[in-house]
Amino acid sequence: MKVVEYERSLQWIGHLHCPACQQNNLAWRSSGMSEAFPHFYCSLCSNVILQRKAQELVYYEATPELLARIAATLPACPCGGHFTPTAGPKCHWCHHEIPIVRDPVAHLQNPNMVVLNGACVFPDEREPYQVRIVD
Ligand SMILES: [Zn+2]
Ligand SMILES: [Zn+2]
Repeated sequence: MKVVEYERSLQWIGHLHCPACQQNNLAWRSSGMSEAFPHFYCSLCSNVILQRKAQELVYYEATPELLARIAATLPACPCGGHFTPTAGPKCHWCHHEIPIVRDPVAHLQNPNMVVLNGACVFPDEREPYQVRIVD
């Protein structure tokens, strides 16, 4: 798979705190201007799918009906899990889910996609890539 490397010093690199073990996870966060929505995490791992083709459906309004419609189209993840509206990334240290998706309907319009170091992004209009954060 293609690998995209981000330097640790970039402004889009930060730490995602795990409330279960209190450790920090290195993560890349897309800028709001990239409009990376709607995106959904895998039920088992930290991979994320970006459904740009569904963006026009939720651009002005996100509703439970639209969420259900889009959720029905989400595929399986190569890890054996499934992309799903309520999942979040998993802590690198303790593997607990980090609850960044608090409201799945509002999350449909969240342009800030958080990708943990080592996780893969599956954009519907581009080839998938793995995010690696390097020094
Ligand atoms: Zn943890
Ligand atoms: Zn997965």
